[in-house]
Amino acid sequence: MNREEKRFWFVFCNDQLLIEKTEEGYRVPYQKETPIKVPEWTRIHELALFDGETFCAYSIDKPVTEHEHYTMIGLRASFDLLPRAMYLMAGKAQEIIFWDKNNRYCAACGMPMKFHTAISKCCTGCGKEIWPTVSTAIIVLVRKGKEILLVHARNFRGDYYGLVAGFVETGETLEECVQREVLEETGLRVQNIRYFGSQPWPYPCGLMVGFTADYESGNIQLQTSELSAGKFFTKENLPDIPGKMSMARMLIDDWLKKY
Ligand SMILES: [Zn+2]
Repeated sequence: MNREEKRFWFVFCNDQLLIEKTEEGYRVPYQKETPIKVPEWTRIHELALFDGETFCAYSIDKPVTEHEHYTMIGLRASFDLLPRAMYLMAGKAQEIIFWDKNNRYCAACGMPMKFHTAISKCCTGCGKEIWPTVSTAIIVLVRKGKEILLVHARNFRGDYYGLVAGFVETGETLEECVQREVLEETGLRVQNIRYFGSQPWPYPCGLMVGFTADYESGNIQLQTSELSAGKFFTKENLPDIPGKMSMARMLIDDWLKKY
């Protein structure tokens, strides 16, 4: 592929992102042509950003190893090595590749889907149009006096404690989801639910919406199928908490700053 202008290239092998080794560190390849040979039949996604930049993304079949200029790292690990804007773009690229791979045929009639725009597909049979799916989840920091509610979910990869979180259900507002998740997972009722911020969570296609809330009533009764531990902690006795890239950590850091 020949190009007039340089582009950022996001090349994935599953969740592994290709990055270039330079004397200053690592960076996303920025050049006119594809950094790694494109496998046959592979679509190169060309995505426009609202600031006028475009970037390209495609996936390869085998990871790149022992290459002079490139190496591959997990998307999560790229958070620590790349500038934030690049990490976010890599996440978007990964979401588009994931969506493309998982939507080759129409869910309604089974015929092949074809691209209609850079971010939509149309069914060649019935004309059904689809866009990338976003799975919305809430995460909430529950305060009780000088304490916050921290939980250890069974699916956490490590011993750290995080915040109550869960996927939004059909027909539910975000605030109702906050109330339901806290009640289901811990048996507590909360009030004063306030929006905090949001974050794309490309693992593989999430949107994390953060809230704060105050304890209202109830005693902790953990949903043991989901959580293995959970209680209120003060600033002085905080356990290990999630890494800087997560919304949970942003909420906890914000609370620590104000406390
Ligand atoms: Zn169809």
